[in-house]
Amino acid sequence: MIPKIKIPYHPIVIPEDGKTIHIKPYTIEFEKYLIEIENKQDLYTQIQIIGELLKYCIVEEDYNINELSIGTMLWIFIKCYEISVNDTMEFSYVHKCDKDNEQRIDMKIKTKDIQYNPDFTPLDIEIETEEGPYIVRFSHIKYKHLEALKSSNEGDDLRGQKLVVASCDRMFDKTGNNEIELTEEDKEEIVKSLPLSKIELIGARIANMPRPYIELEFDCPGCGKHIKEKLEDFFI
Ligand SMILES: [Zn+2]
Repeated sequence: MIPKIKIPYHPIVIPEDGKTIHIKPYTIEFEKYLIEIENKQDLYTQIQIIGELLKYCIVEEDYNINELSIGTMLWIFIKCYEISVNDTMEFSYVHKCDKDNEQRIDMKIKTKDIQYNPDFTPLDIEIETEEGPYIVRFSHIKYKHLEALKSSNEGDDLRGQKLVVASCDRMFDKTGNNEIELTEEDKEEIVKSLPLSKIELIGARIANMPRPYIELEFDCPGCGKHIKEKLEDFFI
């Protein structure tokens, strides 16, 4: 019998709260997940797979990934990739060239060049109630809101509305006191009462949630121009 195999643990600091956790490399079993991530275009499936992967890779058994924002999950995933595969990611980037439509460019990026700034300012919306004005705060989309991401793929007129409800976080009066405990039904009722302009505002905030990104620089094969572009969805 072989001696028990030790798997190395790597400390990482979660950008959002500064807490240190440990990750271990994922095994070959997860390769099939990663191929699925590449092939699936919808965010729901991608985040679900990344969630499963993080549950395996995060060593601390009591660590609850439900409160992680989507951007931070993607950032931890990159760290897991780095220790499991290597520090280079290869992908095919589609650049919209002015001269020659679309150019497919094969890229190699270093994971250390991927940047992530988790700062996110919640959006406060004032609503009128019978007890006077209240503030409703809309925050991050987190892993616990996974089901809402599913609805955003469905493309019906509910599109985005469930995400807006999911991002509805807190309610308190204008002095910041009298916090009201919100149920899911309450959140839905609040969102239904909002004018479309506010929904659009919240939707835009959700679309701009912090995510890992990289600054790409390359010469376009179509027009020869030197291009600098910010890329946010290079690994999924
Ligand atoms: Zn070009």
